[in-house]
Parts: sequence; C-alpha cells; structure tokens
Amino acid sequence: MSFQNPVFIPGPTNIPERLRKACDMPTIDHRSPLFGEILHPARAGVRRILKSDSAEVFIFPATGTGGWETALSNTLSPGDKVLAARNGMFSHRWIDMCQRHGLEVEIVETPWGAGIPADRYAEILSADTGHEIKAVLATHNETATGVRSDIGAVRRAMDAAGHPALLFVDGVSSIGSMDFRFDDWGVDVAVTGSQKGFMLPAGLAITGFSARAMEATRTARLPRTFFDVHDMAKGYANSAYPYTPAVGLMNGLNEACGMLLAEGLENVFARHHRIAEGVRAAVAAWGLELCATSPEVYSDTVSAIRTPDGFDATRIVTHAAETYGVAFGVGLGEVAGKVFRIGHLGSLTDVMTLSGIATAEMCMKDLGLEITLGSGVAAAQDYYRGHPALLHKDAA
Ligand SMILES: *Cc1c(COP(=O)(O)O)cnc(C)c1O
Repeated sequence: MSFQNPVFIPGPTNIPERLRKACDMPTIDHRSPLFGEILHPARAGVRRILKSDSAEVFIFPATGTGGWETALSNTLSPGDKVLAARNGMFSHRWIDMCQRHGLEVEIVETPWGAGIPADRYAEILSADTGHEIKAVLATHNETATGVRSDIGAVRRAMDAAGHPALLFVDGVSSIGSMDFRFDDWGVDVAVTGSQKGFMLPAGLAITGFSARAMEATRTARLPRTFFDVHDMAKGYANSAYPYTPAVGLMNGLNEACGMLLAEGLENVFARHHRIAEGVRAAVAAWGLELCATSPEVYSDTVSAIRTPDGFDATRIVTHAAETYGVAFGVGLGEVAGKVFRIGHLGSLTDVMTLSGIATAEMCMKDLGLEITLGSGVAAAQDYYRGHPALLHKDAA
C-alpha cells in the first residue's frame, strides 16, 4: 500500500490533516471540567448535523455496529417484532443482530441494487392492526450496493398506516455526506460511526434518540450495560462517561462537526453529489453498469460497479492494491466478485477522484477488460469542468 494515495473505500475515509491533529492529544483527566468543553460542543454539533433540534445524542467508544446495538437494546424487549428490508450486506447484518438479540424480524427481501420498498412497508404496517411491530429498520445508504433509500417515504408509509412503531435509521454511510433529516423524517434512532462522513478514524458509535425512543427505554427489557443510554445520560450530566471516553476521537469529532458546519451542510451534500456524478460519468464511459438499478437510488457516497459476467471483480481491488497502492472496495455478500466499489465520501476533491478513476482504468486494462485508457477520466473531467466546484476555505 501507499500512504501517499487517497483511499477509495467507503469507509474509513481519508482523514484531513486538521482532524489528525485534533485527535492527537496529550492525556487529559476525563473526569475534569476540561472534558466537558469537548463533550458538550461535540454532542451539539452532531445534533445539528442530524438536522435535529432536540435529539439526545449519545456517543460510545465503539463503531457503527455498536450504534445498531445501542438502538435495539435500549428500546426493545425479547420477542419484539421489527420490520426490515434486506437489500445488501449492511441491512443483512443489522437483521442478523436483531435475530441474535432474540427479536422476531419480518424481512422484506429486496433485490440487491434496489432501495427500501416503502409501499411494501405500508402494506405490512397497515395489516399489523394489533401493532405488534415495535420498530421499523431502514438502512439509508446501503454501502454494499451503492443504493440510497428514501427515508421520507418510509416515514410517510408509517404515517399512512397510522402505525406507532419506532423508526431506526442506519445512516452510517450517509450522515455528514448526504441529506439526513432527523426531525423532518420523524427518525427515532439514528446511527452512525466516526470513520465515514465525519472523516475520523474508526472508534466512535454516534447515535441520536428522539423523545419517543427515550420513552421506550423505560420499558425495554433487552439486556444492556456498555450501551445503556441512561448510564450515559447520567455521565453526561457530570460532563463525564460511565467509563473511559475516547477523548482524542471526541476532540476530533468536535472539530469535524465544526468543519462540516463551516462548509455548510448543503454545500457538503452538493460536493458529494458533484464528485459522485463524475464517477458515474466515468462508469458510463467505460460501458459498465452500476449495481444501483435506477438514478433515484444512486448513492452520492459510494458506487458499486458491475464487471462483465465471468470476470471476478475482486481482482481489480487486489491488483489496485498490489500494483498501484490504491484501495478500492470489494463486493460483499451476494455481489461478491460481481462488483467493485469506489468510495467517494468524506475528505475528497474532484482532483483526488480523477486519480481514482484513472487507477481503476489502469487496473481494468491490465486485467484484460476492454477499457480505453482515459475514457472515464475524460468523462469525469467534462462533468467537473461543466459543474464548477464551490471552493470553500474550510472545505474538507
Ligand atoms: C460501515 C457501515 C456499517 C458498519 O459500521 P462499523 O463502523 O464498521 O461497525 C453499518 N452500516 C453501514 C451502512 C455502513 O456503511
């Protein structure tokens, strides 16, 4: 590998120098008031990035997976029923976690490449007149397939059915990169991690709880200790944790929120969209197809690219690492060997992205695919020239 090249995996993402420095701190006493000066602004920053006025933000020394566990274990009881669509590896793993926690999952099997079928959710919720379903799970951005689902439509389906279930959203690869509206969408628990849109090393599970989700914690009987939000809330009241916080990462998170908010969330989203459009222009110029089946589900943070039948897409990723010192993402689960992924989220510019597109071309050509060198690069250049970047001094 090379430490000079940017990575093009959909997390962990490239870390801006400013954030690496913010994480690199001498030890401070995490029970001293000094820690509160990091903790409280970081939580307030996350709340703004979630687009919420009132979400309770809880941050654990864990990863996105720990955020899933926080959502489930604090709000549900053994045997509770939840509704979830399986349309990729991450939604699959969340379902697996529910089952291992003794929850009953009503699974809506969905083609890998499609978004959450909100109409199916509406039918199932309408039929559930006894309100046995306690929570609806939604993976906002399926990182395995490069598919963004419409969470507003999921909320409308729940409201149309008059169903009181809680709405849990996995926003691990969307929050801080693509529009996410905790309050507008009536999200009850949002989950993310530090190593994607927040541009930090892995190590924080970041969650937001609505008032209704907090209410549910009072009667929820799933066991929880490390991820107990009440223990955490008690700690926060004293500017502390129930255990030892990851102080450097929290300082980095505070700084990352400052960077994203200074750039402006809408500008951050526009930057991701523009960069993604350039990648998609390159894919079209290569004559290849995205795993995502239609433009309305195209993800602005990751593109999963199908390679021709009979060609093992993983070879591109291995070859890129070994020959050019560049990291792309492999296909996971059902699409293993069928797609490779270009991650384009976090700290990235059009100029960096062009290098990734050029590298992918070299790899595909080296491995015998019919690719004209420069074709994808030229398509992306055309797009970027025609859609100038909004340069911002604080842009990640
Ligand atoms: C990365 C990711 C996860 C898993 O997060 P970890 O931090 O690796 O535990 C979950 N969901 C989605 C959509 C992801 O992209």
